[in-house]
Amino acid sequence: MDSLAQIDREVSVCTDCPLSRDRNRTVPGEGPENAEIMLIGEAPGSNEDKEGRPFVGAAGHFLEQLLALAKLSRKDVYITNTVKCRPLNNRDPLPEEKAACRKYLDRQIEAISPKVVVTLGRHSLTSFLPNEAISKVRARPRRVNGITLFPMYHPAAALYQQSLRKVIEEDIMKLPALLKEISSVQEQAPPVQPVRKATEGEQLSMI
Ligand code: SF4
Repeated sequence: MDSLAQIDREVSVCTDCPLSRDRNRTVPGEGPENAEIMLIGEAPGSNEDKEGRPFVGAAGHFLEQLLALAKLSRKDVYITNTVKCRPLNNRDPLPEEKAACRKYLDRQIEAISPKVVVTLGRHSLTSFLPNEAISKVRARPRRVNGITLFPMYHPAAALYQQSLRKVIEEDIMKLPALLKEISSVQEQAPPVQPVRKATEGEQLSMI
């Protein structure tokens, strides 16, 4: 299995899609290799492109406030995006760009093996559940390809639409209970196959 450092090194020289042409810095992601929670946003913005770090602008500041509501901080979680280079003018990443970059995301998930993957926003959600609408599945954990997904709106959505702020705050406060439920299942299950025994697509019980 690759280390995060190895994946970061490969991302830093990647030219596998046109986004490589306009980037200043790649933004592979950051956080501990043993994080229980992995947050996946959409794409780096201009601040991220300058600093090489994910979620450092206004949305990042709000994300830190959200994490605090769940009694978490940035150092507890791994944060990344569906693509590791900035689309110019903050346009949406194209399907082919997401497809080209998917290998890194999959390897990051494998390296970290998080208990929960939190998708932030539509682009992240549809990377795992192509036919789902975020308004219908938000805050409903479910198993997809061996991963426990917890879909949420993107923090930036609350910056543009104040009415979503409370929704996002309520959703992230459900994370500690979900983690507790997963840990409890893992402790009771025989070694090796904890929550992976859940049926694909099955919604977990706690919410
Ligand atoms: S977005 Fe991903 S695939 Fe495209 S150049 Fe950057 S690292 Fe490579």
